[in-house]
Amino acid sequence: MIPRAVSDFVRDALQTGFRLVPWPTEPGLRALGNPGPLSPVLVTGNFDLTVRRVMRAMRGVDAWLVVAPSSGINVWCAASGGHLSTHQVITALKTSGVSQRVRHRRAILPQLAATGVIAREVERRAHWQVKFGPVYARDIPRYLAQHEKKSEDMRRVRFGLPERLEMAASWATPMALVAAIPSLLLRPAWTPALVVLVGVIALAVFTIYDRVAARRRRYLIAAAPLTAVAATALAGGGTAALITAALASAAAAAVLTYDYSGSTPIEGGSHFREARWHIKLDFDRCKGVYFCWQVCPEACFDQRPDIGKVEISRSDSCIRCGACVVQCPTDALYFEDGGGRRIEPETIRRFKLNLLGRRSVRVGYGQGAPASTDSG
Ligand code: SF4
Ligand code: SF4
Repeated sequence: MIPRAVSDFVRDALQTGFRLVPWPTEPGLRALGNPGPLSPVLVTGNFDLTVRRVMRAMRGVDAWLVVAPSSGINVWCAASGGHLSTHQVITALKTSGVSQRVRHRRAILPQLAATGVIAREVERRAHWQVKFGPVYARDIPRYLAQHEKKSEDMRRVRFGLPERLEMAASWATPMALVAAIPSLLLRPAWTPALVVLVGVIALAVFTIYDRVAARRRRYLIAAAPLTAVAATALAGGGTAALITAALASAAAAAVLTYDYSGSTPIEGGSHFREARWHIKLDFDRCKGVYFCWQVCPEACFDQRPDIGKVEISRSDSCIRCGACVVQCPTDALYFEDGGGRRIEPETIRRFKLNLLGRRSVRVGYGQGAPASTDSG
């Protein structure tokens, strides 16, 4: 019999290393502790690691947890890619049986679900009031203790060392396998060096890449094959080994530096057209409800209660996740492309901004303007 702590550790490690693969758990209702009819209702996606993290974070707190089907993908990627949307949340709330267990109709969703779940639509269609809680599961107990008020740190995506190491592991593991399998068959002696190389590149990319000025990144990408060739030469590799090391490391660096727009805080969509999109505010339409301020993971907005509006104070920090555009009830927020053309909020709501969803986006550039197809 394997102790629970050991099996949990193995599951955590596997699901972190192979995070790009869906790890679904059964959707439905979970009782956390001894919840009653007035206990809070949390909603999350059915990525097994997320559900277990929520359950771990909530030890000692009574609540209901509704697990909505998100194709076994983590919340942010699923919401950005159309796998955790308004429909899935409504279905989960209606079919999980939670309505029969509680006397209120307030659901708390992870903040990062705001790119895909339209809160006002859930209220309109399912009569459940939706609040977007903290970004991280570990902050939920503190959020509940603060009467469901989010402090500044709960709203921000923190891309600190633990998150960077986790992302490095999630990229390095499949890439190391891709490198190791042919190597084991053709040149077993190279395998350890290749695996170490992939790990070093992943660590370098996720710890320093976004801190390097854009124009210097080409040097970083060039450094990967050079390092690989030097390491192979030092290990006594021949011409074939040198060429393989250079090609494999260049391919690994290219894949690792490929940005998945809106699904990673490392930077926003630099490889897609959206990289030239800018978040814009139609000041006249803004009614100061501050939904944008509540869901922005980069704290781009400041409230202006004196005039009942928001202002975009830090547009340079915008990672183009689309959450504010999706949630704004008056369509006061929109993206503008490099040519000054407006991308309608409805386009973002329908097609999202992520590779996991449909990448063929029909972009309507404002009233009466021709539409074009933007593929990524
Ligand atoms: S931009 Fe939209 S969501 Fe933000 S405060 Fe104004 S009306 Fe509210
Ligand atoms: S301002 Fe940018 S980062 Fe903030 S919610 Fe809007 S799209 Fe996302």
